[in-house]
Amino acid sequence: MNKIVEIDPNSGFCFGVVNAIEKAESELNCRGVLHTPSERHTPVLYCLGDIVHNSQEVDRLKKKGLQTINHAGLQAMRGKKVLLRAHGEPPSTYEIARQNDIQIIDATCPVVLQLQKKIREKYQTTDSKRSQIVIFGKSGHAEVNGLVGQTEGKAIVIEHKADIEQLDFTKDIYLFSQTTMSVDDFEAIVAEIQSRIQPSVSFNYSDTICRKVANRMQSIQQFASKHDLVLFVAGEKSSNGKVLLSECLKANPNTHLISNASEINSEWLKSPASIGICGATSTPKWLMEAVADKCNQL
Ligand code: SF4
Repeated sequence: MNKIVEIDPNSGFCFGVVNAIEKAESELNCRGVLHTPSERHTPVLYCLGDIVHNSQEVDRLKKKGLQTINHAGLQAMRGKKVLLRAHGEPPSTYEIARQNDIQIIDATCPVVLQLQKKIREKYQTTDSKRSQIVIFGKSGHAEVNGLVGQTEGKAIVIEHKADIEQLDFTKDIYLFSQTTMSVDDFEAIVAEIQSRIQPSVSFNYSDTICRKVANRMQSIQQFASKHDLVLFVAGEKSSNGKVLLSECLKANPNTHLISNASEINSEWLKSPASIGICGATSTPKWLMEAVADKCNQL
């Protein structure tokens, strides 16, 4: 009996990541024409942090001349071109670039830019002695660092419900969310703060979760539940990958996380009649297609 192998049509890059990769490729292609063949092996464009949390896609672009650097590398660099990825950056990064004569190619996702602006405006119009800006997100995540930077480092980051113990419930609270968090978890945090905030102060919250991700939670659950086996393709560093993987597991416990086709265990494929392949917003379509090809071969 032939097995059904289906790729989730809703999985793959979101428009923020597509936009960042298009900007990088357009820059690399135009530089490729200007460089001699030997020069093509040297980096022609730098990216601050991995352009996407997927090592196969990072390797593909590296071969075209995109080199990942970190903040120490940016600090040490002069007169180069650096791409800022979809996650966005704090104002200090733009200041370093200005001082070091670095040309920025800004691929920050418009949704993140909008959120940064909202937080910056709130910070600039509130008194930090009487109020707290709180960001529900993953501490140390690049997007969160960019958001905290809008408040000169003063925003409080909460990652789990237990972290709200850090908050002062006798001061106003303005709550925002990293774009890739779970809507259910955000609502649980809101309910907890509402139950503890003192009547004399106010609690304002903005659901700033990106619907490009949130809408996928439901659709990925439907996709996972209609297959006997689910192969979820994502890089280990993908924060949205972790959220979507847990949604798949809720709908179908026979779900395996793999980063590429070589990690498929042929034992998994023996009994299921249908195999669903899906991934994170950082998973390239070509990688899911390679996984489908391998399943068909096996
Ligand atoms: S998940 Fe949403 S906010 Fe994040 S890069 Fe993609 S489109 Fe932009």
